[in-house]
Amino acid sequence: MARPVCGGRFSRLGRDGSTPSPLFSPSPLFSLALALALAGTVCRWPAAGATIAGTMATTTALVRNRARHWAFEADGRIRCDVCPRQCTLREGQRGLCFVRKRENDALVLTTYGRSSGFAIDPIEKKPLHHFFPGSRVLSFGTAGCNLTCSFCQNWNISKARSFERLQSEASPEDLARMAVAHETRSVAFTYNDPVIFLEYAVDTARACRNAGIETVAVTAGYIFGAARREFFAPMTAANIDLKGFTEDFYRRETGAHLAPVLDTIRYVKHETDLWLEVTTLLIPGLNDSDEDLKRQCDWMLTHLGKDVPLHFSAFHPAYKRTDCPRTPLSTLTRARSLALSAGLSFVYTGNARDPTGATTYCPNCQTALIVRDGYTIEQYRLAKDGTCPDCGARIPGRF
Ligand code: SF4
Repeated sequence: MARPVCGGRFSRLGRDGSTPSPLFSPSPLFSLALALALAGTVCRWPAAGATIAGTMATTTALVRNRARHWAFEADGRIRCDVCPRQCTLREGQRGLCFVRKRENDALVLTTYGRSSGFAIDPIEKKPLHHFFPGSRVLSFGTAGCNLTCSFCQNWNISKARSFERLQSEASPEDLARMAVAHETRSVAFTYNDPVIFLEYAVDTARACRNAGIETVAVTAGYIFGAARREFFAPMTAANIDLKGFTEDFYRRETGAHLAPVLDTIRYVKHETDLWLEVTTLLIPGLNDSDEDLKRQCDWMLTHLGKDVPLHFSAFHPAYKRTDCPRTPLSTLTRARSLALSAGLSFVYTGNARDPTGATTYCPNCQTALIVRDGYTIEQYRLAKDGTCPDCGARIPGRF
């Protein structure tokens, strides 16, 4: 029988988006507490032998899985307007993300209320280093993706083409209650890109807001128009992947385009109140040249300012890119030095043991303010109001 994936040990390495199940190591006490706290209403698992199709056929799911952001084309096809792909669908067809499907002349979200797993993570794992550092976040995801990254670090979830991975049933209200029960500060939509399950993510973010829980979108930012406005409106923070800085890289390696992603990053920074951080996974030989990195940093400085944190994360060979080696630490430190030299104030390394690259320094007096080793905070010197105790400089973020 499937079991919930919550809490347990933290993996020290491994970028967020890693499959949740290895993180789960529930103690008997934890399981008992979970059962008592949730009284059977938070995590509901299919009974032994039950099919996913059977468990999904609830009134709630049927009502709620109606998708938004679509229209009929002149030829009768339905066009999905969530992401720039704008898939056009005949009856029974699914979009490239696989989870948005035309059914009975309407678009439905087939994964509404279903999760591929839960975990309690440190917020540093998303990664977010300026958003309530050291706090706990309830992470969850569904299945499918609207990009086709050759290097996907999470391909077993993002490329899932059956619902066998969607073991867990959880309504938006269930997820908010789960976060409260586990005393997490926030809920993160992660593991796969949440823009494709927009309706589920938005409803969950609203339920979390009602319960006093923050919400974090971990996304590639491949979303546009009215869907983008609706998606980010109820969120409180975002980490957006900027996967490279050439159109050629985006087209060849992700099946998407660079410009809409830059639009989304600019949108979140300038037209919302969300706390924003950016992550770039560095893949040896594909997107790690000095020239590309310099152009990316210059763009960030010009369009976002110096205070948006940038994370350079290490790649491990996966999916179709088993021909590329793991990113060496020297590449991460080279990128970090380059970005700091370009003028960005907060640049981090991730997925590698690099205490210097994980630490938050005051950009004014250079003192170490939040010393991290992996996802563990070793020393926290930031004042309660988010200022440096030595020089009084204000550190941007939510503290
Ligand atoms: S969200 Fe999915 S169905 Fe909609 S346009 Fe994007 S890939 Fe196509």
